[in-house]
Amino acid sequence: MVQAMSQTEARYLVGTSEFVPFDPDAAADAAGVGVSAWMGFGRLLGLYARVAGRGAIGLHLELERPSNERLRRVVLAHELGHHFTCTGIYVKPFACGPDSLTTSRVEAQAARWAATHLCPPALVSAYVRHNESIGAEQVSEIADLVRVPEGFAAWWLADLAARGMVDGAHPSHVSAWVPCLSSDAD
Ligand SMILES: [Zn+2]
Repeated sequence: MVQAMSQTEARYLVGTSEFVPFDPDAAADAAGVGVSAWMGFGRLLGLYARVAGRGAIGLHLELERPSNERLRRVVLAHELGHHFTCTGIYVKPFACGPDSLTTSRVEAQAARWAATHLCPPALVSAYVRHNESIGAEQVSEIADLVRVPEGFAAWWLADLAARGMVDGAHPSHVSAWVPCLSSDAD
């Protein structure tokens, strides 16, 4: 499993830009969770199912487009969140999309698992101290550093600040993030 980052480590990484973004594909691989791209999802972006103790993740085919690379990282990490946070013999399948990502406790749990791994709170804390204030520009920098959509980074910073987990962050009004596919046409 992925190790939590220490404050010292985070400060060093922010200072030297040697941060290595979380690799959800490698994490799925290491956990023996199969990942495949599926068609016919409608508005759903990811699925998680457990069969005989083994996890399987399906991702919307559109997420394979280069323009959706950051979104794919978030959706895959979210589905891994279901894998790692759901215990017990029977785990119901999860279908995750813009309508369901923030609607229940288990969805919030998966979203926070994903965010914690993609964008460790220790890294955010170190970044906040390094920059003194957090505005749209810093949110964008953090999103670039950890390779997630800006909206996701904004939601996560606000979520951390609202729970008192990051000192000195001044959260905006962001309370939710709605994932959205983009096309390569633009
Ligand atoms: Zn979900």
